[in-house]
Amino acid sequence: MNLNTYYDLISSESKARRYLLGKCFLNHQRFCLRCRMRKLYKLEDGRYRCSRCRYTFHDFSGRWINQGRLSCIQWLSLVKLFELEVSARKMASQIQLSYRAVYNAVMAIRWAILSHAEDAETLLGGEIELDESYFGGRRKGKRGRGAAGKVPVFGILERDGLVHVNVVPNVTAETLLGLTVKKVRRGSVIYTDKFRSYDSLMFCGYRHLKVDHGKYFSSGKVYINGMEGFWSWAKERLIKHHGVSKEYFPLYLKELEFRYNHKNEDIFDSITNYLCDLVPKWD
Ligand SMILES: [Zn+2]
Repeated sequence: MNLNTYYDLISSESKARRYLLGKCFLNHQRFCLRCRMRKLYKLEDGRYRCSRCRYTFHDFSGRWINQGRLSCIQWLSLVKLFELEVSARKMASQIQLSYRAVYNAVMAIRWAILSHAEDAETLLGGEIELDESYFGGRRKGKRGRGAAGKVPVFGILERDGLVHVNVVPNVTAETLLGLTVKKVRRGSVIYTDKFRSYDSLMFCGYRHLKVDHGKYFSSGKVYINGMEGFWSWAKERLIKHHGVSKEYFPLYLKELEFRYNHKNEDIFDSITNYLCDLVPKWD
């Protein structure tokens, strides 16, 4: 969305609201969120009641955008600043909200992105790079050996395509190959380094080529620069957050995956779409 369209959208609360409502209800046709009945009664307080199941709801009930009490203009401003990677603290002063309110809203955006990523069942194929990396853990106090305290992340990258990253409990062959088989089409060519967990890839229906880091010049197409590029890009971005807790790290990771996969696109529209989705029932 270009700036002029955006300015117009936030010029009044009713325009901003209409824009968001259009994303919640196709053609602005409201329906009951429980039974999808279209015949609704409008209550005096602005809410709606279903004529069939009596469920009472308001415009943003059950959606990500219902988290926190932000106006529609505030939500759209927040998404614009999120798109531009402005820190939560700066957003708070720009939108004149408390840091806590902004933080909660930005986390709702991250949850919405994560829940979208989870549904993404797109298979990757063609030329694929696999690699694992460790994030965080350089805290004061505990100094573990090797990767202790760090979070292992497994990455699958389609050359000239999408990246898919996930926090993993460990980097055993079982874990890494299990995820690969779920995400990568059989018959693809897979490039990895010499890490032993990848040894059985050829038995999973892939053509497997190993990078010899020692023989840089003779390796030709056998490299994993795409995946390595993603790691350094992601780590540089995470520094800005001044340490992310382990609990919420997957949210930040999926935000980075989303940004990387949409780096040449206008993400304002996708984020507002996600925010207007119904919050899934996690069990
Ligand atoms: Zn109903």
